[in-house]
Amino acid sequence: MSRTFDVLEWTLAAARGENYPDFPEHPQMTVYDTGVIAIEPEQGSSKDVIISCAVHGDETAPIELVRDMIHAVLDGALEIRQRVLFMIANPWSIVAGKRFVEVNMNRLFSGAHATGDTLEHQHAAKLERYVERFYTSAPAGQRQRYHYDLHTAIRDSAYEKFAVYPFRHGQPYKREQLTFLAECGVSTILLNQAPTTTFSYFSSHQFGADAFTVELGKVRPFGQNDMSRFAAADHMFRQLISTDVLELPAFDASRHHIFDVCRTIDRTQSEFRLNFPDDVANFTPFPRGALLAVDGTTEYHVEQAQERIIFPNANVAIGQRALLTVVELPVTELDLV
Ligand SMILES: [Zn+2]
Repeated sequence: MSRTFDVLEWTLAAARGENYPDFPEHPQMTVYDTGVIAIEPEQGSSKDVIISCAVHGDETAPIELVRDMIHAVLDGALEIRQRVLFMIANPWSIVAGKRFVEVNMNRLFSGAHATGDTLEHQHAAKLERYVERFYTSAPAGQRQRYHYDLHTAIRDSAYEKFAVYPFRHGQPYKREQLTFLAECGVSTILLNQAPTTTFSYFSSHQFGADAFTVELGKVRPFGQNDMSRFAAADHMFRQLISTDVLELPAFDASRHHIFDVCRTIDRTQSEFRLNFPDDVANFTPFPRGALLAVDGTTEYHVEQAQERIIFPNANVAIGQRALLTVVELPVTELDLV
């Protein structure tokens, strides 16, 4: 079916500087920027939900999910009952077919955008203002804020889908959120133990949102994603924004794998290498003593009984993170509410 208006084509045309028809008039929709669209139901909402994609432009499946949800609202097929802000976060990197144009935008939030002047620095500052505008323009009353920042991973993962729970500054983790994510097919959770400059930490820390970086699987080109693998997440996000009260099953600790960051290994030298092949999957375990990385003359060996590697990237800029290691934490050791 060909569409007369395609929200992704509209967003990409703006990034290319090309003409495209205006966003259609819709009584519930407000365009904050190209690719940034707020939807406000007439009455009765209690949730302010941000669903963002394309912070990394080559992570296509979440872009397709967001595009299709916006089209479903435009077509009258999805009735919105909660306030939603959809964000296609970095259209220029989608046009380029790359993770980012100049700088990894998911390191530029919580003010880090002030350290430079690239397109990504400037746009991260704008995205922060859109988040603020959306959360602070909600109707008065008891409300709950959410932000799901959707990604796909560069590499295979022993746990295909996982979410990063931003640093909580001592506040408890939420059973309801773990259950929601598990219903999305995301039963593996990585706990951040320090502030970060990610988009989800920004919303969590600045606005008290239940916010997550959600990794939905491996990157594929547009049109080559097997969307059935994202069906559970798609269904749950649609439920979240189209119901008054979201029905969730009871919390079940046995559903969740929780991982704690054990170590962050930064590249500090031009001579840097990882001691395992490029295609090793995220969450692959290594035994105590195994050599993980060599940074100049410093060797990094596994220190715990078992550490799993995650997000390895030997080619990061000097000073940036090249590898994380994580260890599994029993759910019972979490401070849960
Ligand atoms: Zn990403």
